[in-house]
Amino acid sequence: MITDGHNHTKHFSPDAGQSIDELISEASSKGFTRIGITEHYELDYPEDGLNWMFDLEEYNRVFPSWREKAAAAGLDLLMGIEFGYQTHVADEIERIAASYPFDVVLLSNHLFRGKDFYVDRECYKLPKKELHREYIGIMAEMCEKCSNFDAAAHYDYINRYTDNLENFVLYEDCPAEFDRMFEALITKGKALEINTKSIQKHKERGFKRHLPDPAVLNRYREMGGKLICLGSDSHFPGTFGVCFDEAVQFLKSLGFKESVYFKAHKPVFEPL
Ligand SMILES: [Zn+2]
Ligand SMILES: [Zn+2]
Repeated sequence: MITDGHNHTKHFSPDAGQSIDELISEASSKGFTRIGITEHYELDYPEDGLNWMFDLEEYNRVFPSWREKAAAAGLDLLMGIEFGYQTHVADEIERIAASYPFDVVLLSNHLFRGKDFYVDRECYKLPKKELHREYIGIMAEMCEKCSNFDAAAHYDYINRYTDNLENFVLYEDCPAEFDRMFEALITKGKALEINTKSIQKHKERGFKRHLPDPAVLNRYREMGGKLICLGSDSHFPGTFGVCFDEAVQFLKSLGFKESVYFKAHKPVFEPL
């Protein structure tokens, strides 16, 4: 079974509603053998009353006991973190990422001009190509500036809260920015994540298309990209491993044969 490398628990991610025990039992019942835990860490996140910077020492201290629980259920647990990128916190992300024994470090961009799409949807009034060019441009900058990470997460996060279901991010919207992102990932040996929660969200919200634009993945592969990781980005019970079958079929149809997960930052390949 392919590894689900992107998940959150309520113990460290303020927007998650599942315990580690619930996550382990769900993964086990769905036949998975490995879970990546990637709790949210957002430096200088806009004030919303939530704590987006969990206690790193506590996480590091408690994780071995989580590993033991998982092992008892036949599961391997990967200790990870999901950093929210902003230009001015790049150096601090680099520092923290190197300071703890993470298996996997994800970099994400949840903000547009300093605001989370979830809270402020003004950005969707911009022309689609302008919005996508700027958003993917920041993803590219994130991959260029940082080195202490393993994968760029959910490049299609920009789709999540738009009311215009035609506003689906496509390669043709901003090829130069996608190419910059891919160039940085490939040169540094980092992975591109396919976030299956995005697929599920697109379905729920009635998008005409659910799966990522094939042109995005074809271009990544054409440029030499080989590392693809999968994550369901689960926050609540019932969502672990969501849409994995579909994502795997989709990747196979494009000619990908393997996905990866990261253990102590080393990519481990799994056949699709
Ligand atoms: Zn995220
Ligand atoms: Zn996440």
